[in-house]
Amino acid sequence: MDLGAIRANYRFLQSKAPGARCGAAVKADAYGLGAIPVAAALAEEGCRHFFVAHLDEGIALRPHLPASAEIFVLHGPLPGTEAEFVAHGLIPVLNSAEQVAGWRDAARVLARRLPAVVQVDSGMSRLGLSPSEVDAWLADPGFLRGIDLRFLMSHLACAEQQDNPMNAAQLETFQALRRKLPQCPASFANSSGIFLGPAFHFDILRPGAALYGIAPVDGAPNPMRPVVTLQAKVIQTRVIERGDVVGYGASYRAPSRRRIATIGTGYADGWLRSLSARGFARVGSARVPIVGKVSMDTLALDVTDLAPESVLPGALVDLISAAQPVDEVAALAGTIGYEILTSLGARYHRDYVDGAPVVQARQESTEFSI
Ligand SMILES: *Cc1c(COP(=O)(O)O)cnc(C)c1O
Repeated sequence: MDLGAIRANYRFLQSKAPGARCGAAVKADAYGLGAIPVAAALAEEGCRHFFVAHLDEGIALRPHLPASAEIFVLHGPLPGTEAEFVAHGLIPVLNSAEQVAGWRDAARVLARRLPAVVQVDSGMSRLGLSPSEVDAWLADPGFLRGIDLRFLMSHLACAEQQDNPMNAAQLETFQALRRKLPQCPASFANSSGIFLGPAFHFDILRPGAALYGIAPVDGAPNPMRPVVTLQAKVIQTRVIERGDVVGYGASYRAPSRRRIATIGTGYADGWLRSLSARGFARVGSARVPIVGKVSMDTLALDVTDLAPESVLPGALVDLISAAQPVDEVAALAGTIGYEILTSLGARYHRDYVDGAPVVQARQESTEFSI
């Protein structure tokens, strides 16, 4: 895991929107990469707005960030959890009239003003006040009593598709709501939204994926630096004869004499089963195919074309690297880079380098590392 690349990606995204403050989505353990080291590095780069999904993620992260950094919990307070938000110094995103009421009650009970972000739905129909809830807000001067509104936010549904008309429609809805509601800062853009231009930037940016090296714009070259090198170890190799089969379901049948390497990672580690007979690994600069089904803890590579000494037991193969980016793996698996990264399992040994271009795997009994 190259924290230096994450830092560079953060600076690049900030430079795209000089009028806004760049925050960071570090939910889902910073997309599987490790929320604590990632957020600590970003705090050093000047990031002050961190977004997690769950209360528990915020509680776990809070002690590792400076007091000047704020943690926003995207799911908001579920009923009965308000006191925990206050106790841990976390700021909820209020997504519904019920969440606003719960936060207002907490402020009244504690007899103090409580900070919050309010999310409005601009068309995605996921989280945020609906148009009728916004009308109720406009009709009720006490709607935010006791609440210190930090900013208004909304979320884009199709931002990675630059020519999707949904982007302009959501922008127009968000701007119309802002005109009606109390004047305050605003947050609209995720990673891809930053690349839609200044009209989408507002005051606080919320990138996640692009910080971690995922391409932000469909169909365009990826301007982000690669962050993740995923490596796994060879357990054993064998030579099989024409007609022999490999793996569950015996779905691969050797067309000729082949050398097969069994690698110690599988779908339990997030190397998706849909990569069976589709994905690749790199050994040095050579690309070798996955043959047969990916199983829970192993996969098989056809290494016939490689020198046998390059795939001895314990040798490392690259599954994600600059030469085989996460988006390419995702396309082969029929998914998106987000799902590949957030699926990376707990059995991986996570190594962090800060600035150096190559991740060196630690030589331990573990069979893989990132
Ligand atoms: C996950 C998330 C983000 C970050 O999105 P990316 O596409 O990863 O940049 C921003 N805002 C909200 C509300 C999110 O749920």
